Amino acid sequence: MQTRIAPQYRTDPSVHEAETILRDCVHCGFCNATCPTYRLLGDEQDGPRGRIYLIKALLAGERATERTRLHLDRCLGCRACETTCPSGVRYGRLLEIGRHLQNARLPRPPRAALERRLLRYVVTEPRRFRAALGLGQAFRPLLRGSLARSFPPLPAKSSYAASSVSTTHARRVLHLDGCVQSVATPATRAALARVLDRLEVALVSAPAAGCCGALSAHLDALDEAKALMRRNIDAWWPYLEEGAEAVLVSASGCGSIVKDYGYYLQDDPTYANKAKRVAELTYDPSEWLARELAARPTIGNAQGRIAFHAPCSLQHGQKLGGVVEGILARLGYQLSVIRDAELCCGSAGSYSLLQPQLATQLRRQKLASLQADRPQCIATANVGCQLYLAQEAVVPVLHWLELVDEALAKTSVPRNPDETRIELRDRAK
Ligand code: SF4
Ligand code: SF4
Repeated sequence: MQTRIAPQYRTDPSVHEAETILRDCVHCGFCNATCPTYRLLGDEQDGPRGRIYLIKALLAGERATERTRLHLDRCLGCRACETTCPSGVRYGRLLEIGRHLQNARLPRPPRAALERRLLRYVVTEPRRFRAALGLGQAFRPLLRGSLARSFPPLPAKSSYAASSVSTTHARRVLHLDGCVQSVATPATRAALARVLDRLEVALVSAPAAGCCGALSAHLDALDEAKALMRRNIDAWWPYLEEGAEAVLVSASGCGSIVKDYGYYLQDDPTYANKAKRVAELTYDPSEWLARELAARPTIGNAQGRIAFHAPCSLQHGQKLGGVVEGILARLGYQLSVIRDAELCCGSAGSYSLLQPQLATQLRRQKLASLQADRPQCIATANVGCQLYLAQEAVVPVLHWLELVDEALAKTSVPRNPDETRIELRDRAK
């Protein structure tokens, strides 16, 4: 795609990056087929190709309008279009640049800007998020329907401390406890700790680490996002130097961005190398466990029909489609076949709060697919999807690690026959 760059942008490196991305697009429109908003609205400008044209117009210096903002805001950032695109167009990055240009040229009205700032203020800090959730629970009897259901019960403060796992194994991996997951679904971390304990690996957390920065990055607050990334790198670095093998991120939305720390901080002379190293050592627990379990004889005879919802951040962001499903099947679970499995559930970070009508339609469609086979439960890999689906699902919605934990609890985990130490660092070299 030929692009004309407006004179005022000629020295802007992100605009040059956008231009390079645009060159790959051949306008074929294949991406529209898997775009959730195009499928819902049927409008070319609510599909990836149309949005690409809108961003191209911004780069050319054409007037930024509220109509452009509407179509860019309606994008989930799910990146299903990237998976479908035969030309490898990096749409996710293009969207981030396009939204930034749009907001710089035509700032949001004060109320909408305040709404986003408030969201970042509350969600990125666990204590504030806990307080907000507690407040929502207190007023829940006064709220109706879906609004009441959007405040899930507040779990007891970190169930991890009470779980009987050893932190003294020779092998250690770090875990990103994060912000929302540490408050709303602490059972996920507890399950992972027990699973790793059975494999004689200790799961440790760096107390100074916190939010991964994804929400800030997606809401066009890049400086704030980078500050959060640097904080996590500083918190993890001493552990990595002392031999922690990896950083496991059990919320796939967070994992997706931690794997991009090297990209975001590439121009920071102090953090560029460390960020690249952290990104190389970051894994979704599924890819880490798949390697660990592959070296052991078949394990588990779990029973039950499970519907697995692969979050967009797992299948499109991290390109790990099928990995969790492989682990669950190996443990004995029967997996439902999910129609339109590549489509987003509507959660998409803050999307369900900022675009509730579209998000609700997507969730309704997703739950119809997930529950069609009458599964005993729905499993997923990201806290946002888990909480959002659980609001309307008729069966429990869990993190898949809870199912692995349950399956391994019923059987003894065989030792790796060769006692081969699986050296994950090899991947990064
Ligand atoms: S599928 Fe790829 S190349 Fe084709 S229009 Fe979409 S982004 Fe462009
Ligand atoms: S990121 Fe998702 S919603 Fe946005 S254009 Fe791509 S497929 Fe459509």
